[in-house]
Amino acid sequence: MRYCKLLLADKTSAFAAVTDRNNELFATELIANPLDTHASAVAAQPFTPLSLAQLEREHRLLVPVTPSKIVCVGRNYRDHAAELGNDVPTEPLLFLKPPSSLLPAGGIVEYPAISKRLDFEGELAIIIGKQARKLSADADVAPYIHGYTCLNDVTARDIQKSDPQWTRGKGFDTFCPIGPVVSNEINPLNENISLITRLNGEVKQRGETRDFIFDIPHLLRYISQCMTLEPGDLIATGTPAGVAPMQSGDVVEVEITGLATLRNTIA
Ligand code: ZN
Repeated sequence: MRYCKLLLADKTSAFAAVTDRNNELFATELIANPLDTHASAVAAQPFTPLSLAQLEREHRLLVPVTPSKIVCVGRNYRDHAAELGNDVPTEPLLFLKPPSSLLPAGGIVEYPAISKRLDFEGELAIIIGKQARKLSADADVAPYIHGYTCLNDVTARDIQKSDPQWTRGKGFDTFCPIGPVVSNEINPLNENISLITRLNGEVKQRGETRDFIFDIPHLLRYISQCMTLEPGDLIATGTPAGVAPMQSGDVVEVEITGLATLRNTIA
C-alpha cells in the first residue's frame, strides 16, 4: 500500500490511499491512519481523487507520520564518506534530528541567517511499525518495518563543522522534509532500491541501497541496542556522494524508484 496525509477542503487532515495512474500519483480514497491500531474505520466520505502534484501546489500535503525521534545514520555510503574526507566507519555513526525539523513535501526549507552553506542529503527513510528493543543479532527485522519514505537530511554544513555536536547543523526547523508518500510496496531488504537527488532538475546524487556500508537489518539491530524504537519513528539510512549547497529559490527533489518524489523549495 502507498498512502499520504493531506489537508481536506474543510482544513481537517486525513490519510488517503495513493495509486499510480499512468505514472502520476493520485490520492484516491480516505483511509484510517495505517499506523494507529486503535483508529476507528473512516466513515465513507465523498472524496474526489486528486493528484499529488495538485495537492503539492496547493500546499495540502502533510508530514505522513508522527515520530518520537528521527534517527540518522552518517556516512553509510563509501563514496560519500570519501568525498567529505572521512574514513569508512567500522560501526554505524548515529545522530538525531528533532521532530520539530519535519517539513512536508512542497514545504519551504528556511535558510538560517547564521549559515552560509546549506546542503541537501537525499536519503531513504525507514518507518518503524512495531516497538523494537534490543533486537538479537539474528532477529528478522521485517515485522518491525511499517514502510519507507523519501527524506532530505538538510544540513548547515558550516555549523555542522564548527560545533562539536551536530545538533544545530542538522536540527533547524524545516531541515527534515519527508514524504509525500509512505509505501510498503518497495522492499530494500530483498531488492536493490535506487535513489536520485536533483537540484533545479539536474541530477546531483545517485545511490543504490546495495552500496550501504551497513544494511537495514544491521542498522535496526544496532540502534535498538541503545534506544527503543516506537511505531512512527524514522530512520534515515544515509546519503550517497554528490552532496552540494543550495541557494535561495532552488528546487530540490529526492526521488526513490517505485516510491515517489519529494520536492521542496529553499526560501
Ligand atoms: Zn544524512
